[in-house]
Amino acid sequence: MHALIIVDIQYDFLPNGSLAVPLGDEIIEQVNRIQQDYDLVVATQDWHPAGHKSFASAHAGRKPFEIIDLNGLEQVLWPDHCVQGSAGAELTDLLDTHRVEAIFRKGTNPEIDSYSGFFDNGKRKNTGLTGYLRDRDVTTVSVCGLAADYCVYFTAMDALEQGFDTYIVEEAIRPIDASGYRDKRATFLQRGGKLR
Ligand SMILES: [Zn+2]
Repeated sequence: MHALIIVDIQYDFLPNGSLAVPLGDEIIEQVNRIQQDYDLVVATQDWHPAGHKSFASAHAGRKPFEIIDLNGLEQVLWPDHCVQGSAGAELTDLLDTHRVEAIFRKGTNPEIDSYSGFFDNGKRKNTGLTGYLRDRDVTTVSVCGLAADYCVYFTAMDALEQGFDTYIVEEAIRPIDASGYRDKRATFLQRGGKLR
């Protein structure tokens, strides 16, 4: 079984969103088109309580994109985004979700950020995605979505570490920072990840 994991295609990560990924909307058509190539399709959704500690606004005197130590982990501070129940947290209506069998929400603990769909950062909290995929006899996963250099990358790295044969679908991802993604892509390939 080969599963497609669609990462965080939410309004806040699309143009005009609060944490917009440049040209993020360009991938939606591809993501819709490729779903038919997979045995199983799941999605992730960034889903933060208001006042989440990954938000710059939760730290007096801090600005978005500054880096701090958050409970022992390096943390980039973000603009407020994907607040539970807000319009920005919704998956875009342009995404075809007919084949999406489950949506894994992440970032629900106010103290820990959540780039990967498998674990919150530092592996302090498990979303259950590994168990779900194993129960469905999935051996191979492909990852697409937003943003390439954060949630796609960390989801793909955890998939590798959990023993899945892992691909990043490069036509269906966009980064926040292109040079940051190049470095992370090299690490992914070095660890045995593949591209398609
Ligand atoms: Zn987030």
